[in-house]
Amino acid sequence: MKFALVNPNWDFSGSTYFGCRDPHYPLELLFAFDKIIEDGHEPMLVDAQTDNLTTEETKRRVDAFAPDFLVIPTAPSYLFWRCPPPEVRIPKEWFAQLGGKAVKVAIGPHTSATPAAAIRKMGCDVGLRGEPDQTIPELASKGWADIVGCCWRDESGMHVAPGLGVTDMKSLKALTFENYNVEAHKHRHHVFWGEGHGAELEFARGCPWSCTFCNKTLFRNKFRERDVDAVLAEVDRVIARGVDYIYFIDEIFGVGKNVRRLLEGIAERNVNIGFQTRIDLWDEETLDLLGRARCISMECGIESITEEGRDELNKNCKMNTDRISELLIYAKQRIHWVQANLILTEKDNKEEIRRWQDHLKAHGVWVSEPVPMFPFPGSPLYVQLFGNPDDDAWERAHRYYTKTFSDKGYSDIQEQKPATLEDLECAC
Ligand code: SF4
Repeated sequence: MKFALVNPNWDFSGSTYFGCRDPHYPLELLFAFDKIIEDGHEPMLVDAQTDNLTTEETKRRVDAFAPDFLVIPTAPSYLFWRCPPPEVRIPKEWFAQLGGKAVKVAIGPHTSATPAAAIRKMGCDVGLRGEPDQTIPELASKGWADIVGCCWRDESGMHVAPGLGVTDMKSLKALTFENYNVEAHKHRHHVFWGEGHGAELEFARGCPWSCTFCNKTLFRNKFRERDVDAVLAEVDRVIARGVDYIYFIDEIFGVGKNVRRLLEGIAERNVNIGFQTRIDLWDEETLDLLGRARCISMECGIESITEEGRDELNKNCKMNTDRISELLIYAKQRIHWVQANLILTEKDNKEEIRRWQDHLKAHGVWVSEPVPMFPFPGSPLYVQLFGNPDDDAWERAHRYYTKTFSDKGYSDIQEQKPATLEDLECAC
């Protein structure tokens, strides 16, 4: 059977979305593409964001392929599944405009948290919960009731599955990128200077911690590493296509047993890297290794400058703030861009935050202004505030967020006057 995998040309106007707006590799679709071939079926991939395609241009390509299944994600790349746009305006619009006879399949944070509402809102047939790399191809070969996390609607009503797809990361072989316009994707995620040619790869998925605000309970939750040699093969393949910077989309780069071997391998290659991590995973010796592996961008979630604040967010950080500062400064002496991210908490004193920011900035570490937390329906915070998510979860979270922070202030990378979710989703 034939699967059309489409990354829409995203538009975030009016949204509270605070992730990066540039195109990123749709790794969830690239992994599914290979799994579809492994299962004996035929995929096609259209990255309408990287290729800057309209719905009309995309529809022509999809119609020519005549798929049995049309798959569209509800967030732009796995990298942003944890902080997606709350609205499903774009996938809804793309499902409607691509139309056709194919079974419409949505994947992403919305189908994971509120599958019935997401299916209804987007007018699609199937919503997969959890990670879909392996469950997408199963739609062609298994009864849908036997697929983990498969929800669908038919003439007898809505069928909602309790399970969540969890991918066997060791089974994800090295991507070839023969199906991907590596040359057109130049964005270097989280690099704010100079020029170059970026790519995004994934070494490990999930995270062993469970911070209150983190939207990862429904996907990318359990920590799993890929095979180091498969990832190094991908590194070599993108380097051969002109890439000189790789951003690892891992939730928390640096946790696993094999990351050291990966870094030693990268150190032998002519490529820079960047990622998100926790500073308490590193020490002077491993930060030296990062320097040797040409890490140029390291983003660290510190969240609060006090131990009480970090405890309230369930950060489970074993380091005190002085040691955190010391390591951030040590890292900055080896890595061009070191960033410490803060979250707006009641426990932190504004004057003390300013002093800490000034101290680190004097050593070249960039410290964010404390950003407001969105209670995403897949986060422990949502459950603490409202209980388990129901069909109105995204609307409830959005109303809470805009009511709480419209006076206190949004992040400077967000729309300052976001529209309501209802208005955004009705606009198409
Ligand atoms: S350490 Fe990072 S990825 Fe892990 S739970 Fe906390 S915020 Fe999420």
